Amino acid sequence: VFSPAAVPELAGARPPFDVNLIRRDFPILGERVNGRPLVWLDNAATTQKPQAVIDRLAHFYRHENSNIHRAAHELAARATDAYEEAREKVRGFLNARSANEIVFVRGATEAINLVAQSWGRANVGEGDEIVLTQLEHHANIVPWQQLAAEKGAKLRVAPVDDTGQILLDEYARLLGPKTKLVAFTQVSNALGTITPARRMVELAHAAGATVLVDGAQSVSHMAVDVQALDADFFVFSGHKVFAPTGIGVVYGKEALLNATPPWQGGGNMIRDVTFEHTEYHDAPGRFEAGTGNIADAVGLGAAIDYVTALGMDNIARYEHELLAYATRLIRDVPGLHLVGTAADKASVLSFTLDGYKTEDVGALLNKEGIAVRAGHHCAQPILRRFGLEATVRPSLAFYNTCADVDALVAALYRLAGSRN
Ligand code: PLP
Repeated sequence: VFSPAAVPELAGARPPFDVNLIRRDFPILGERVNGRPLVWLDNAATTQKPQAVIDRLAHFYRHENSNIHRAAHELAARATDAYEEAREKVRGFLNARSANEIVFVRGATEAINLVAQSWGRANVGEGDEIVLTQLEHHANIVPWQQLAAEKGAKLRVAPVDDTGQILLDEYARLLGPKTKLVAFTQVSNALGTITPARRMVELAHAAGATVLVDGAQSVSHMAVDVQALDADFFVFSGHKVFAPTGIGVVYGKEALLNATPPWQGGGNMIRDVTFEHTEYHDAPGRFEAGTGNIADAVGLGAAIDYVTALGMDNIARYEHELLAYATRLIRDVPGLHLVGTAADKASVLSFTLDGYKTEDVGALLNKEGIAVRAGHHCAQPILRRFGLEATVRPSLAFYNTCADVDALVAALYRLAGSRN
């Protein structure tokens, strides 16, 4: 059994980081699949939920459930308090200045669409440029493409090198007076590349651009500080950070949010309505029209409490060691080709295996209880940059162990050995 003592930096971690104890917090990790213990290596798609999050949802529905803000009764007060406490927890998690900078949405996809349709429609015009990178998830491409088509703006794309890291000089060359917005991911979901986000924000600001950072794949693997990063917008999905599905976050600098028109109209987001004129709330209310996902926001707060208690720096150190261990073992499998070998990486091992279609590798691993993603990972441009349409993508979280990696690698050796 893998012990954190094998990771020197973690042996003395405070609080103690004991992966075998941590695993007991996640009931689903005890499942059996096809007669084998589940090996969950599809964390980039979604993460599993600790008992604390499951319990928090049940508690909400048993003791607090109400619509928020509108009613004068006890349960409305409890639900409102729980929801606003969750917002405060997200603020602390991202180190935002104010809870007014935290807008709840359905997930990263809705978050990016919100920024494109509100800030983007108000600020991007004909001839303007939007700079993206080759690493982007479709969720950080398509909304900008739609905006560019509507406004007559142009997309420009920063390339990566053969390891899958952004070519910073090329990126800097794309920035100029026409650049209205730069949107890029902090961690690539397809390759695991950690981009030099702080420097990229700095360069974009020097060109006068507004910046959106896609944190969908970063928040579960590293501490994020939006003030240090200085991004204007930062987005993420709850379900990728051990929280329920259907809840996500747009962080935006407060003055910027208040200068941005709302996206959707309806209840909750208004101060006053007549048939002639509507006055909107300041952020975050102006972006939260209608009844939101109250319970799952509260669940996100519980997930943040959970990872904060473990310590994001402890998580990052543990995963770094586990990824290095996995990389060392997997690259020796005969006929296996790793894609994405940047020096700075988190969580993801993307590969092809000679003699097998990627979906067949996924199906054969599933027979052994091992869950990985196989396909294009909603990031076709970056795979095509490497001449591929699909890869197999195991992805790690802090509850994975060397034993999980060993099971994966042993299964891949068996596949390589039985290749026709
Ligand atoms: N951005 C990145 C980098 C992602 O990996 C994902 C999901 O895989 C998204 C955005 C979209 O997240 P969601 O599907 O939760 O909205």
